[in-house]
Amino acid sequence: MKVPYMDLKGLHEPINDEIFTAIKAVIDSGSFAGGPFVETFEQQFAKFCKCEHAVGVGSGTEALWMALLALGVGDGDEVITVPNTFIATAEAISFCGAKPVFVDIDEHSYTINPELIEAAITPRTKAIIPVHIFGQMADMDSIMAIAKKHGLFVVEDACQAHGAEYKQRHAGSIGDAGCFSFYPGKNLGAFGEAGAVTTDNLELAQKICALRDHGQLKKNDHCVVGWNGRMDGIQGAVLSVKLKHLNGWNQIRQQNALQYNALLLDAKNIKTPRSSAYNQHAYHIYSVRVPDRSRFMASMEKGGVSCGIHYPFPVHLQKAYAPLGKFQGSFPIAEKCANEFVSLPMCPMLNTEQIEYVSHQIRAVS
Ligand SMILES: *Cc1c(COP(=O)(O)O)cnc(C)c1O
Repeated sequence: MKVPYMDLKGLHEPINDEIFTAIKAVIDSGSFAGGPFVETFEQQFAKFCKCEHAVGVGSGTEALWMALLALGVGDGDEVITVPNTFIATAEAISFCGAKPVFVDIDEHSYTINPELIEAAITPRTKAIIPVHIFGQMADMDSIMAIAKKHGLFVVEDACQAHGAEYKQRHAGSIGDAGCFSFYPGKNLGAFGEAGAVTTDNLELAQKICALRDHGQLKKNDHCVVGWNGRMDGIQGAVLSVKLKHLNGWNQIRQQNALQYNALLLDAKNIKTPRSSAYNQHAYHIYSVRVPDRSRFMASMEKGGVSCGIHYPFPVHLQKAYAPLGKFQGSFPIAEKCANEFVSLPMCPMLNTEQIEYVSHQIRAVS
């Protein structure tokens, strides 16, 4: 049996007609850059996230960058985040002229360890970016309390957490802003690149609207130096169609995860992911931990199972971030996890037989 890591073609097949109709409407209207299809999606996505506003941009990376810029993060500032994330989180901080300051993660949730945050705060700290890694939200109550005490902004990196919940509150609705990626493989994926910022703050939403459109809110009236960060009309139209299916797809991901958990319960040398009782995990990634990863990966490959690694190296050990002067041993939990993480096949198209087969292959390794 072959088990792909994900199956986008299969996911889209049942809704292809609806998507083609939506794309044709964009072609007929000529609204390709920003415009009404993006505005409609923004309203739908804000409602989905239980937020007042959503602003569509070109990617998740751009969402993070523009949210920080709009909050006034700039030269000489520091922004606290985790080293076990996609590098974009740190890049967005750097592209504001600020410095990423890393804090180690909690060994069980893999999200930022709130107990370590205060020691990383300095007079230059402007914001905290908790990353809802793999689709599980960080411990937002503790993070918001620390941010309030020290006067810091909180920007949620929700790029892997569309539809995730923390104590019945949606990802992207708790911090000052939430940043989403619609990269094709994400839980809600476009037919290309796209992203969005969510917020309840009208002034902040307007600043981001200006930043993504060359600093103008009115045509030819450029009040700040902005950028071209608009979302494509075609992406807006496709995302509107796919958003209707997101809750259903996330439920299947959760059922898949429960099935993996049950089948791997007593598998030796495997740590399955833990999810706090008050969290709704969106399971963008189902990551297990194995001590001898190269042997494990080779054996899975041989059995026809495609796995992934998110991410093999923590950001502070990447050459691009060598100037920060961190090293092996700086963030021991993130480093240990990065050495052990293996992402098992996970998508709404995964069926029971495939999950049983993957679990069987895992038992054959250990
Ligand atoms: C995907 C991702 C991003 C970046 O999103 P893009 O749309 O690829 O720019 C940022 N942070 C995390 C945690 C991500 O998974």
